[in-house]
Amino acid sequence: MGRFITGIYNYCDYWCDRCAFTRRCRNYADGPTAKRLQAEGRAEDRDAVNQSFWNDLAARLRDATIFGKMAEYAADEGDEADAWDAGALDDAADREIDAAMEARDRAVGAHPLTHLSRDYMMRTAQWLKEADADLKSLAAEWLAQAGARYDETDYEEAAREVGDLIEVVDWYHTLIPPKLARAIGNLAEPVCGDGEYARIISESRLSDANGSGKVALIAVERSIAAWLRLRELLPRQEDAILALLVLLGRLQRGIRAAIPGAESFKRPGFDPGATLFADDNPA
Ligand code: SF4
Repeated sequence: MGRFITGIYNYCDYWCDRCAFTRRCRNYADGPTAKRLQAEGRAEDRDAVNQSFWNDLAARLRDATIFGKMAEYAADEGDEADAWDAGALDDAADREIDAAMEARDRAVGAHPLTHLSRDYMMRTAQWLKEADADLKSLAAEWLAQAGARYDETDYEEAAREVGDLIEVVDWYHTLIPPKLARAIGNLAEPVCGDGEYARIISESRLSDANGSGKVALIAVERSIAAWLRLRELLPRQEDAILALLVLLGRLQRGIRAAIPGAESFKRPGFDPGATLFADDNPA
């Protein structure tokens, strides 16, 4: 079993500070290191005697391997090989790919889940901005009340909980739209060509749609849980929070209906029983 879990970062919520798999995530291992080196301007650290050099090389090799395999499958398809050889792409193949991408963009733009998720994102962003004054006045009330003789409320714990819950809704409200766009796009984009190559692409898109849909579903469910508790802690925000919960409920039902494979998708590393990369999962 290698140190890294293949593809774990494809279906996570990118919340590395709260992730139990940082040690087994190549994205985490490579990301901060690359940023640190960039900030420090230490070009010599890219030398081949440094581990980061080999990590970068490994990432490039992974891409090269995937594209190489695709070219091989295309070659097995006979004449189609030429269409997928970068040097031999003709105008017809270009047009077919452009048309497929346009169809994908149109489908994403027109899908009800796209509108719903953007609506939720914008309304949550607005709430985070507009609730500020009310939350500060509540904080002032708690400060004045803390230590009062007959008040047993644990204000310290309440304050920590509010901060934690707001962090949850803040984190997920921007994650849901891009994850849904990716899922919807994968389901909608027509597959160019046919035969074995087309079958592989089609299966891979369906799997990615399910994985992306699952991340969106998890983000929605965690947001619902956070808002429900915030509703209890912030009774003055009840109306605004209820409106957001209604949108989240519609999103939850919509995802289950439009991406039926999302809920049962097993994310490498995170979900027990993931079989796609079974060899990489922790024992
Ligand atoms: S799997 Fe964990 S460590 Fe890796 S990118 Fe996702 S949240 Fe961050």
